[in-house]
Amino acid sequence: MTLAALFAAYPLPRLEQLALAAHALDKPRSWLLAHDTDVLNDVQSIAVKTAMQRRAAGEPVAYIVGTREFYGLDFKVSPAVLIPRPETELLVDWLVKNAPQDARVLDLGTGSGAIAIATAHTRPDLTVCAADISDDAIAIAARNNAALVNKRVQLHRSDWCSAYAGETFDIIVSNPPYIAANDAHLAQGDLQHEPVGALTDFDDGFKHYRSIAAQAKHHLRTGGALLLEHGWQQGEALCALLHEQGYTHIEQHYDAAAHGERGHPRMVSCSKG
Ligand code: GLN
Repeated sequence: MTLAALFAAYPLPRLEQLALAAHALDKPRSWLLAHDTDVLNDVQSIAVKTAMQRRAAGEPVAYIVGTREFYGLDFKVSPAVLIPRPETELLVDWLVKNAPQDARVLDLGTGSGAIAIATAHTRPDLTVCAADISDDAIAIAARNNAALVNKRVQLHRSDWCSAYAGETFDIIVSNPPYIAANDAHLAQGDLQHEPVGALTDFDDGFKHYRSIAAQAKHHLRTGGALLLEHGWQQGEALCALLHEQGYTHIEQHYDAAAHGERGHPRMVSCSKG
């Protein structure tokens, strides 16, 4: 069979077809475009078909190919970690721009390590620690840490701040599981295939913000910053929660505008004292 015939048989978006075939055949996209009428051998045809079938059955492209680009870097991913989202680059942008020289940064719930590793990659002066409660996530983060930043991020298994007794940071950042237990999106699309404990708090969506806000105070220096990603409708309630917990300089930030609209509120920064 030819690639052209396989693409016709599995009507997926063109970019997905190319990403899946490039992975299945271990060829660059330029090769695929130049060779789409070559007859593939059986091994090649089956590899492409299998990838297309998995995608057609709903598996996310990132899990099939095993990587996802984030902040210009190729991160290894598996079903043990959330697939890094473009919105989350907003947190890295903030860190890259606002972290003081030589600051100590802690990323809570790091998953694939995307936030911590992209930040460490762009700002080699920073000391970056990253924690996750899941051993499987830490294993993926460790591979990315070795491949992308020469293991410069210090990884620890930790239930939020539990592993950091007596340690303080200039900035604590987190993209915690914030989808409420009753949110219908959990049963839709790529989310069905992602680790449920990385998406929802099995509660009202704010349980982990309450824990992180309460714990981070004890691990931030005075004037240090807490930076949190949130769902597009959670901004105001999260600001109120942080205010109640005594944080100051609470600011909302918006993600990238789409089609001329203003983006969604996506992240809150605040400071301790
Ligand atoms: N941003 C993800 C989504 O809406 C959720 C990530 C999270 O819970 N931290 O699909």
